[in-house]
Amino acid sequence: MIKFLDLPKQYRSMKREIDRAILSVVSEGAFIGGRPLTDFEAAFAKYTGAKCCIGVGNGTDAIEIILEGLNLPAGSEVIVPANSFIATSEAVTRSGLKVVFCDCDPDNYTISIKDAERRITSRTKAVIAVHLYGHPCDMNALTRLARRHKLSLIEDCAQAHGSEFRGRRVGTFGVAAAFSFYPGKNLGAYGDAGAIITNNPRLAEKVRMIANHGRLAKYDHAFEGRNSRLDSLQAAVLTVKLSRLDKFNRIRRSIAECYLCELAGCKDIVLPKKEKWANPVWHLFVIRLEKRDALKDYLQKNGVQTGVHYPVSLPRLKAYSYLSKKRPKLVADEYCDKILSLPMGDHMTLRDAHTVSRLVKKFLASGPY
Ligand SMILES: *Cc1c(COP(=O)(O)O)cnc(C)c1O
Repeated sequence: MIKFLDLPKQYRSMKREIDRAILSVVSEGAFIGGRPLTDFEAAFAKYTGAKCCIGVGNGTDAIEIILEGLNLPAGSEVIVPANSFIATSEAVTRSGLKVVFCDCDPDNYTISIKDAERRITSRTKAVIAVHLYGHPCDMNALTRLARRHKLSLIEDCAQAHGSEFRGRRVGTFGVAAAFSFYPGKNLGAYGDAGAIITNNPRLAEKVRMIANHGRLAKYDHAFEGRNSRLDSLQAAVLTVKLSRLDKFNRIRRSIAECYLCELAGCKDIVLPKKEKWANPVWHLFVIRLEKRDALKDYLQKNGVQTGVHYPVSLPRLKAYSYLSKKRPKLVADEYCDKILSLPMGDHMTLRDAHTVSRLVKKFLASGPY
């Protein structure tokens, strides 16, 4: 069986360190804040090259708190790519702002900058760049777009820990970036967790206060915030796992290279494109083909787990049925029935990747499926 994700296997590879980190938090009884948190925040700021890192409860909160911290006028429009996880758009709506969906780039699945530009109005105040599947967006073009139209550029890095745009890690190209440490992400905690990074110390102070009840000092609150903190157990686990992140990403890259090489000649499938500016971290390895469902079944029957990210584009979810129904079909919509995420992760061996590739080729060769 080749699993889509195998967290117990990863745990076994670093059990001693993880156990020690957890035990130390538990035995000291410091569950909120303190050294484990400040240590992780410092280590993650260093890793991403950001001046400030603020641990929060999860990745969705991270986006929401950034938006709140920016203090955009109520009802401002925020451009969000149509193919992402709902968290990206949900955070916009929950902040009292208006989601405006734009299409994806037909080659690399990240935000289409041309389409984003078409959707800008006088009310547009921000754009969220999602480094989808671990592939960085074109941050030069997005930075220019944001500058030209005076938009706040926010990065959703939930799938892109360590991903590089022209040799620089994502997360510091815009005003602030949101990270999720949901267990299945490239850097995952043992529960929900997230972080905000920014190079703007004033914004950092603001978002830290928002995430902690608007607190200045104990029982001294400047405004009403909320409770969204990264707890110390998760921070301690994350510090151990951060030390392995580059290694885990290297494994992902080698699995991706194997797939790209093995499947290069298959004319019925479209392989993910790695842009010249990109050093992706392959959160997902997504191929595209007409007979997606048949291949998915075939792989399942042969012991290979796959996924679909995502089966419905955001604007077509029931949650957004209040938006215009007349909208023309997006590239993102057309892709929903064709995309398939092959197994990917540090739990895999090159041998697993060969096995998966061989099965995919065998399926394609079996003629009229
Ligand atoms: C996982 C994810 C999120 C949300 O993170 P949570 O920690 O689950 O709240 C946001 N955006 C994208 C693109 C994600 O993949």
